[in-house]
Amino acid sequence: MEFYERAYASYQDETDELNHFRERFVMSDPGLIYLDGNSLGMLPGATTEKLQNVIANEWGNQLIRSWNQGWYERSKEIAGKLAPLIGARPDEVIMADSTSVNLFKLGYAALRLQTGKKALVSDELNFPSDIYVLQGLIDLFGNKHELRLAKSPDGIGVTIEELEHRLSDDTALLSLSHVAFKSAFMYDMKAVTQMAHNKGAMVLWDLSHAAGAVPINLNACNADMAIGCTYKYLNGGPGSIAFLYVRKDLQERLYSPIWGWFGQNDPFSFSLDYKPAEGIQRFLAGTPPVLSLSAIEPALDMMHEAGIERLREKSLAQSRFLLKLHNHFLESLGFGLGSPEKDAERGSHISLRHHEACRICKALIDPDTGGKTVIPDFREPDNIRLGITPLYTSYMDIYEAVIQIKMIAEQKLYNRFSLQREKVT
Ligand SMILES: *Cc1c(COP(=O)(O)O)cnc(C)c1O
Repeated sequence: MEFYERAYASYQDETDELNHFRERFVMSDPGLIYLDGNSLGMLPGATTEKLQNVIANEWGNQLIRSWNQGWYERSKEIAGKLAPLIGARPDEVIMADSTSVNLFKLGYAALRLQTGKKALVSDELNFPSDIYVLQGLIDLFGNKHELRLAKSPDGIGVTIEELEHRLSDDTALLSLSHVAFKSAFMYDMKAVTQMAHNKGAMVLWDLSHAAGAVPINLNACNADMAIGCTYKYLNGGPGSIAFLYVRKDLQERLYSPIWGWFGQNDPFSFSLDYKPAEGIQRFLAGTPPVLSLSAIEPALDMMHEAGIERLREKSLAQSRFLLKLHNHFLESLGFGLGSPEKDAERGSHISLRHHEACRICKALIDPDTGGKTVIPDFREPDNIRLGITPLYTSYMDIYEAVIQIKMIAEQKLYNRFSLQREKVT
């Protein structure tokens, strides 16, 4: 059986020991192929039940009493379940705010500690919000810092030499995405962290496209700080609460810029003087969103059941399958690879480049195109991002998506669509 035959994909699904997890997600349209779990993870069936209970029982019946019946501890509980997924201790992680806000809080804390150092370093593949936050911090600290962005010659990756070249003894902070949102390029976290430490810089990792997608070991890498979202590979739901990590020995030396009551040493003393809580709690600001917190739990439990190592193994096998299908069916139709070829340098999505990427995405999503409806996403200027989320992506999903892309490109079915980009892509 050859890899480009339909039967091959179906055989892979039959012999895939993680395949059964797929049934635990809400799939109301069996004809839909969802390859955007790297942007918004699917809804686990158990989350619907869980939230119904939290709303009807904990909120509806128990009302404010629920704060002492589990709500106050929930943030800690969820952080405790997330910690092993990112190689951190439970007392080094909290659930709080959004990724952008957490980046601001930790970036501020780092600059406050690293007084006198004048450079911030990132790369041009980083998520724009991350760059904006760094620019905003520079403004907040009186425009005394310089932001240096490491360059990517191909828009896919950044070499460690290039990064090293941007770092200097006056670098306060190196802030990077572990996995790049567009190309899925993945840094060697340990090597980069060590290199930055050798220059005296602190390192802040954004794990948004990595958490739940690849094994991460913050402790083994001696990482200083990290942040990330839970609505992508962690399936926490749209806009779900983000997380934040600070290495234990750094916690007492860092201060949040938002001195809110949940980060106070004893919030319910209602004292009028702020005294930061000991440990990681000091990075909380206000009341946690209990509904959002509750929604993450079933997905985290499922992730532990499957095991991040096994998920990574499947993700790599599926990625290689997709790469082979691309080479076989798509390369001759004007497609090119927008992601690293090496497994160790790639997260869990694959970007295919095509000069008609925007309209090809529209044709994939539109049910009137005929064939299968496929949901990928489009990233400027020419990337079709195909997310591989091994808890629920099947080999057949990948196969059929490639066949659909091939049909659309061959027959130029994208011509029906305008070049205008949608508000959210
Ligand atoms: C998705 C993502 C974010 C999202 O930030 P929000 O504050 O949740 O909007 C931030 N950084 C990276 C690298 C991302 O991939």
